[in-house]
Amino acid sequence: MTINKNNTLQIGDVHITGLTDGSISFDPRVLFPEQPLEVWEPYYDRFPEYFAGQFFQNNLGSFVFTSGDQRVLADTGFGPHGDMLGHPAPGELITDFERNGIGLESIDTVFLTHLHGDHVGWNLREDLPDRPLSFPNARYKVHEADWNHFTTDELLADANRGEATLRSVMPVEEQGVLYLMDGETELAPGIIAFPTPGHTPGHMSLLIASGNERALLVGDILGSPMQATETDFHYSPDWDSPMGIQTRKDMLDTAERDEAVVIGSHLSYPGWGMMVRWEGRRYWKAL
Ligand SMILES: [Zn+2]
Repeated sequence: MTINKNNTLQIGDVHITGLTDGSISFDPRVLFPEQPLEVWEPYYDRFPEYFAGQFFQNNLGSFVFTSGDQRVLADTGFGPHGDMLGHPAPGELITDFERNGIGLESIDTVFLTHLHGDHVGWNLREDLPDRPLSFPNARYKVHEADWNHFTTDELLADANRGEATLRSVMPVEEQGVLYLMDGETELAPGIIAFPTPGHTPGHMSLLIASGNERALLVGDILGSPMQATETDFHYSPDWDSPMGIQTRKDMLDTAERDEAVVIGSHLSYPGWGMMVRWEGRRYWKAL
């Protein structure tokens, strides 16, 4: 594994760029309602970039993987849509593509870890009048269990929960470029999507395996870096909390055993690190 500059990483033959839609800060109790604020105090020094006072500072990360002549984008941020958890949406992803010199038309696959609103927000160009697809040459891919879960009449009728699907996912399907996966799927050489349910029914992760090196993009399995240590905390956005906890433990055990780089959607920019042990406890440590 080689870090070329701040936000790029090389895993064997796979080149990775960390992008961001911006970051937002909010009260930890929004996501961890059972934990008093003091629980997080021991982490202030370990993750200074993650804390703004007592508030979390949450990155909205997306990642571009280049393997051979294929480019895969994982997730499309929250988009420029009003508020997220009471904070104005930064909506910076398209600008960040420009800043990094990556053409939107160069993306072959848009892989969606799951269909929560902060992962699909720039599927379409919300900054342009006709809202064309942001990635005009891409196939958009998601697990069919998430498509089924997020497109029920009941969920779509719920203004809060259905909004992101109606705005950012249904139009992709209507244009015929949404492809549903039903299990492990190779997206490009050395880049394999596989089911990691719990956060949502069809949440998927990526294994990047190339030249004896490994990385795992774990999406929202690690919604915050502290969950590498506090695996058992109830995480309120999880669809099935016990399943979410089990999947989190399994994935992090695997990452630790295989010495894989762990990449997460909401880990501090650029969003990658390793599992380390310190006085018997496991921590995520930024690279
Ligand atoms: Zn998320």
